[in-house]
Amino acid sequence: MNPDEARVVESYGRRVVLSLPDGQRQPAEVFGKRLRVVCGDEVRVSRHAENSALQVLDVLPRKTHFTRTNSQGQAEVLAANITQLVVLMSDHPVSDPFIVDRYLAGAELGGIKTLLVATKQDLGQSEEFQAHILAYQQAGYEVCNVSARDQATLHTLRQALSNEVSMLVGESGVGKSTLTNALLGTNTQRIREISESTGEGRHTTVSSILFDLPEGNAALIDSPGVRDYAPAPVNDLQVSFGWREFARYTGQCKFNNCLHLREPGCAILAAVKTGEISQRRHESYKRLVNLMRQLLPSYERH
Ligand code: GDP
Ligand code: ZN
Repeated sequence: MNPDEARVVESYGRRVVLSLPDGQRQPAEVFGKRLRVVCGDEVRVSRHAENSALQVLDVLPRKTHFTRTNSQGQAEVLAANITQLVVLMSDHPVSDPFIVDRYLAGAELGGIKTLLVATKQDLGQSEEFQAHILAYQQAGYEVCNVSARDQATLHTLRQALSNEVSMLVGESGVGKSTLTNALLGTNTQRIREISESTGEGRHTTVSSILFDLPEGNAALIDSPGVRDYAPAPVNDLQVSFGWREFARYTGQCKFNNCLHLREPGCAILAAVKTGEISQRRHESYKRLVNLMRQLLPSYERH
C-alpha cells in the first residue's frame, strides 16, 4: 500500500474509519458528495497540513463487490474486495436454507469464493439439518462445523480464513458476533473501542467492521444481522449461475436457452428426478428466478 492509500474498515456514509499502511486505525471524512465508499474499499487519502485530519479523495478500483437488493429494489454494494463469503447456518434456531442459498448465489454472481459454516455444534444437529448440510456438500460446497465455545473446533476454519478477506454473513442469531469474538480473542475489545471513537453514537453498530485476525494474514468483516438477503437484480439466465451444481449439466438441455423450470428435455430437471440435484435447492432456484422477475423491471427503469 502506498503511503497515501488506506483501507476502509468501517463506513458510516460521509464518515469512515481507515486502516493506514502502518496498521493504525483512524477516523476520516469522505470528500465530495458523490463518492461512495464501503467496508473493504481501498482509498486514496490526504492529510490536512495543520490538524492532520484525514480525508478520503478517491476509491481505487474494486477487485470484487458483494451486493444485495436493498429495500428500494436497487443494487447496493455491501463490501468491496472480499475474497471469500463465509455463510453461517445454525440448527438453534434453525436457519432458513433458502436464505443460505441466496447468499451462496450472491457470492457466485460476484465471483467470490464461499465457505459454509455450521455453528453451535455443541448443541447437536437434527437429522433435517444434517440433510441440508449433505445437500450443500453434494452441490460442491465445503462445510465446516464449529462451536464458538470450543477453540479446538475452530482450527479448520482458521486455516480457511488465512490469506483471505472474508465476510461473515447469516441470519441474525446464527452466531456471527460470538464466532468473530472467538476468532479474535482478546483483540476485539480494543478494536470496538476505536470504532466508537468516530463519535457517531450508538447507531455506529449498524456498520460492517473489518477486523484483522491475530494470525495468518487474515481479515474478517463482521456484518450486522439481516432479516433477509437477495442478490442484486439479474436476469433469468444469470440466476442459474448462482447454483454451482448446475454447471456440470451445461449444454445437455434440449434447448440452449433452457431455464430449467419446466422445459422438455431439461438435463437439470432430469437430475432433480434422479436425486443428483437436490429438489429443495432446485425449488430455491425457481423462487429466486421469480423474485428477480419481480425486481428487474423497476431496477432497469432507474
Ligand atoms: P449474531 O446475531 O449472528 O451475531 O448471533 P450471536 O453471536 O449474537 O449469537 C446468538 C446467540 O447464540 C447468543 O445467545 C450466543 O450466545 C449463542 N451462540 C453463538 N454461538 C454459539 C455456540 O457456538 N454455541 C452455543 N451453545 N451458543 C452459541
Ligand atoms: Zn434445462
